[in-house]
Amino acid sequence: MSRPLTLALTKGRILKETLPLLAQAGIEPLEDVSASRKLVFETTVPGLQLVIIRGTDVPTYVRHGAADLGVVGKDILLEQGADGLYEPLDLNIARCRLMTAGPVGWQRGGARVRVATKFVNVARRHFARQGLHAEVIKLYGAMELAPMMDLADLIVDIVDTGNTLRANGMEPLEEIASISSRLVVNKAAMRAQHGPIQKVVDRIAAAVAARAA
Ligand code: AMP
Repeated sequence: MSRPLTLALTKGRILKETLPLLAQAGIEPLEDVSASRKLVFETTVPGLQLVIIRGTDVPTYVRHGAADLGVVGKDILLEQGADGLYEPLDLNIARCRLMTAGPVGWQRGGARVRVATKFVNVARRHFARQGLHAEVIKLYGAMELAPMMDLADLIVDIVDTGNTLRANGMEPLEEIASISSRLVVNKAAMRAQHGPIQKVVDRIAAAVAARAA
């Protein structure tokens, strides 16, 4: 038998939506992932295991071939680039928008703008396309705090309901990209293990299609 395939899942909010979709595809962890501190789980599909890691690490595992497949938000793929990855499937889960946002009523003063975000590459590209010089400040969380404390004028962040923005006196401004979670596959693994990987992709694709029907 060939070596087991590994599917890397993004933990947190995306995982909560991924597990029911995988269950619909007939792929279920053999133990309750939320009741365990383990990071690796066997599944109901022999030869397919899950690892559960941070979203920002999923492309790294898959790009290096440490995982063959992964589930990750498009926001992270846009930020990190998709070198070495195929993106065969939009899973249509964890939908949200990547947006610029600012304090309610904020008006641009000049051609310079300070932007706080964890999506520094996305933010640079977005403001460059508009011909604006953005000073992009990398943060790892609580982006809404930055304008309040005068660290930045604007933020680039994920917006779902907009409640987080509103609770902090901010409003969404421009949509940069519409986001959902994607299935990614290591390009070399796709060639070397085409049959088994395609089977997993097909199972998940069928579950996505059944939901859309
Ligand atoms: P909301 O208050 O509903 O606009 O949610 C905004 C916050 O929830 C953002 O700052 C994100 O950190 C998080 N969030 C919402 N949707 C997603 C998603 N699909 N993937 C990752 N994080 C999300």
